[in-house]
Amino acid sequence: MDTYVKEQYNKDIQFIQKIDGMMERRLDHTAYVFAFAACLLAHLLYVILFALAGVKAMALFNVGSVVFYILTFFLINAVKNKLSLVYATIFEIMLHATVATAFVGLEPNFTMFLLMLIPLAFLMPNKNKYVPFIILLISVPLYGVLNYYYNDASHVPNEMTKAFENVFYIINFISGSAVLIYISIIFSLMNRYLESRLRVQTEQLRQMASTDPLTKLYNRREMQSRLNNISTDYVVGIGDIDDFKKVNDTYGHETGDVVLSQVASLMSETIPEAASAARWGGEEFLFLIPDCDIEKGKKYADSIIDAIRSHKFESGGREFSVTMTIGICSGSAEDDIYKIINIADSRLYKGKHNGKAHTEFE
Ligand code: GH3
Ligand code: MG
Ligand code: MG
Repeated sequence: MDTYVKEQYNKDIQFIQKIDGMMERRLDHTAYVFAFAACLLAHLLYVILFALAGVKAMALFNVGSVVFYILTFFLINAVKNKLSLVYATIFEIMLHATVATAFVGLEPNFTMFLLMLIPLAFLMPNKNKYVPFIILLISVPLYGVLNYYYNDASHVPNEMTKAFENVFYIINFISGSAVLIYISIIFSLMNRYLESRLRVQTEQLRQMASTDPLTKLYNRREMQSRLNNISTDYVVGIGDIDDFKKVNDTYGHETGDVVLSQVASLMSETIPEAASAARWGGEEFLFLIPDCDIEKGKKYADSIIDAIRSHKFESGGREFSVTMTIGICSGSAEDDIYKIINIADSRLYKGKHNGKAHTEFE
C-alpha cells in the first residue's frame, strides 16, 4: 500500500470502529429514548401554553400526544421494530401540525414540521422502501393546502394574542431547527461510515486479488501487470529454493509452508524499496528491481542468498537451514520483458547444475 492509501485506510478503520463501538454500546437506543423524551417535553409545553392561550381543544389534543410519548417509553423495549415507533411518531407530528394549524392558523409555523419530517423519514433504515415516499406524498401536498387555505385569516377559528403566537413560533423554530441539525449530523456520519466501509472493502479485495496468501508477496497476476508497466532499465531475478522436496519430506509440508513464508519475508526485506517481489510458482520467486544494472542486481541477489543461508529455520525443536539459487538478467524498457525472464530462468537452471546456492548472471 502506498503511504496515502495506508493513511486513508487507517483513518477509515478507526472511524468504522468508532461507529461500530457506538452501536455496540447501544447508543442508537439512547438516541431513540432521547428523541422520544424531547417530543414528550415539547408536547407538555404545548399543553400548558395552549391552556394558557385559551385553545382548550389543542390543550386536550396535546394531552393525547403526551400519553402517546409516555407509551413509547414502554413500547421501545417491547416492540421488535423500533422503526414502527418512529413512523408512529412521524404520523403524530403530521397530525399535530395539521390540527394545530386548523385551530390557530399559520402564524405559529406548525406547518414547518410537515417539511422537516421528510428527511427524517428517508434517514431511517427503512425495511419498506415505499414508506418514506408515502410520507412525502402526504406531507408536501398537506403543507401546500394548509398554507393556501389558512392564508385567509377568516378561516382561522381561534385568535391567539400576538404574544402567544410569538412564543409558539419561537418554540417551533427552535425544536424544528434542532431536528434538522440532528438529521444532518446523522446523515453525514452515515455517509462517511458507508464511504469508509466501501474504501476499506475495496482495498481489502484489491489486496486479496493481488497477493499470495501464504507468502504475502504479489501473486503472478499482479506481478505480470508490474512487468508490463516497467519504464526504466531493470534487473529481473528468479530464485528457487534448493532441495525443497527434502524440506517437505523431512519436516513435513506445513514446515515447508513456514519456510516459504519466511523466505519470502527475507526476500522482501532485502530488495530495495522500489522493487517488487512475487511468488512466481510453488517455491519459485521472481523479483523486479527498477533503475538497476546487472552488477547492482547481482549484489541484491547475493544479499538475498546470504540472508536465507544465515537464517535458522526451526521445526519440532530441530534447527535447519536452506539455500536458494537465483538467476538474474538485466533489461531495458524497449526489451520484451518475458524474453528477459526466460534468460533469467535459464540462468537459474544453469545455477542449479553449477552447485546451487549462488547467483547466476551470465
Ligand atoms: P531443486 O534444488 O532442484 O530446486 O530441488 P527441489 O527439491 O527444490 O525441486 P523442485 O524445485 O522441483 O521442487 C519443488 C517442490 O516444492 C515440490 C513441491 O512439493 C514443493 N512445493 C511447491 N509448492 C509448495 C507449497 O506451497 N508448500 C510446500 N510445503 N511445498 C511446495
Ligand atoms: Mg527447488
Ligand atoms: Mg522449483
